Amino acid sequence: MRIGAHVRAGKGLVPALQHGADIGAEVVQIFTQSPRMWKPSQYGAEVLDAYRAAQAEHPSVTSTFCHATYLINLASPDPELAAKSRACLSANLSTAEGMGADGLVLHIGSHRGSGFDTALPNVADALMEALDGVDAGDDPCPILLENAAGAGDTVGRSFEELAQVIAAADGDERLGVCLDTQHLWASGVPFASIEEADELVELVADTVGLERLRCLHLNDSKVAFGANKDRHENIGVGSIGAEGLSALLGHPELQGLPAVLEVPGDGDGPRAEDVVAARKAWTAGLALRS
Ligand SMILES: [Zn+2]
Ligand SMILES: [Zn+2]
Repeated sequence: MRIGAHVRAGKGLVPALQHGADIGAEVVQIFTQSPRMWKPSQYGAEVLDAYRAAQAEHPSVTSTFCHATYLINLASPDPELAAKSRACLSANLSTAEGMGADGLVLHIGSHRGSGFDTALPNVADALMEALDGVDAGDDPCPILLENAAGAGDTVGRSFEELAQVIAAADGDERLGVCLDTQHLWASGVPFASIEEADELVELVADTVGLERLRCLHLNDSKVAFGANKDRHENIGVGSIGAEGLSALLGHPELQGLPAVLEVPGDGDGPRAEDVVAARKAWTAGLALRS
């Protein structure tokens, strides 16, 4: 398992990659643009090319994932917000493609009471529009649908729902899944014992399929099990705890995946000690299962 970290691109993309390496991450995740603004990416083609080259040649960081803008809501019943969301997703995917990312992680959004079944065809159509619209090479950047914490009518609160979204998009192979441990915990799915972790991996295999699972988001939780809130905590400090994460991290079927930290650190995101804590939880999980 490669341990990764979300890194901020305030000083530019290549410095963000280097920051990831400096804290010991083997994988980085970067926002394609300011996550809480509609304003499109400021990165020109030269900047994206420079990032792609720096990533390809990097001695320790082996891959990059991008995270889409939080404002995107593909399930919105409001036509104006839905249209803005589609345009923004397309722009995000084009940036991720330009960076040579292994995936663009996306929160699908909330149907705001209009109902999952009503939102489903619109979500699928928006995903296909973005995937078909991007200028991709032989190895297109997939969109990775992230499981939601379950607050306020969010779409994708369970793997069954994510599987339905993928099926509605005709099972397009450019769609994958990202499993966030904090969101899962908050949505009331247990995985802290070996038996529970095994059941979860079986559930993923039976719904979206393990080949679609491309990335883990490795976060402890500020809120209690089942609290339905998206609140990340540093590894070992939250309600899941390092031991609670180990059984899942040690699962043999997950060893090829990157596990990306999106923890607060001391306010500026993952630090070197957070990467160390994550690696410890993983090696403890391997030992637990050996
Ligand atoms: Zn996310
Ligand atoms: Zn996440």
